Amino acid sequence: MNRALLIIDYTNDFVAEEGTLNCGVAGRSVAGPIVKLTRKFLGNGDYVFVINDIHYPNDTYHPENGLFPPHNLAGTWGRQLYGELESVIEESKKKYAELVLVMDKTRYSAFAGTDLEIRLRERNITELHLAGVCTDICILHTAVDAYNKGFNIVVHKNTVQSFDQAGHQWALRHFKNSLGATIVDE
Ligand code: ZN
Repeated sequence: MNRALLIIDYTNDFVAEEGTLNCGVAGRSVAGPIVKLTRKFLGNGDYVFVINDIHYPNDTYHPENGLFPPHNLAGTWGRQLYGELESVIEESKKKYAELVLVMDKTRYSAFAGTDLEIRLRERNITELHLAGVCTDICILHTAVDAYNKGFNIVVHKNTVQSFDQAGHQWALRHFKNSLGATIVDE
C-alpha cells in the first residue's frame, strides 16, 4: 500500500494577508504543520502531490464567476505557494523528483477534470492524506470524490483550515462520520 499527501490550494490568494480570497489568520496558522508533514512524507519515501486551483481572466463559463472575486489567476503571485512551502516544494522537486507532483485543477475537487486518479492508481496509492484549504470547500469536495473512488482518507487536523470555523468543524465531522476518514492530530 502506498500513500500520498495531497496539499490543496495552499497558495497566496487563499492564505496570504494580501491574498484576494484568503482564509485569514486561521489559514496561515497551518503553514508550519504543512511544511513539517511534507518533509515527513518525503523523508519516508511517500508521495506528495501539490494541487492548486488555476483560473484564467475572462473565462465566462466558469461556475465560480459571480461566487468569488478573481483568484489564483495563471502566472500570478496569488497562485504561488504560501510562505516556506514554496521553496520547500521547489527544492523537493529536485531532491525527490520521483515523489513530488505539482498539478493544476480548475474546480473545487482535485479529481474534477484532472488526471489525479490515473496518477494515483499507477503508483498504487490507496491512502490519501489531505492538507490545505479550505476544509469545507476544496478539501471537502476532494474528500467526497476520494471516498466515492474507494481511497482511504486521512485528515491531519492541524494542516487544514477555513475562513469559516463552523464550516471547518462540520467538515471534520463529515470526513469522520460519513466518509470514514481517520482524523489525526498531527
Ligand atoms: Zn477557484
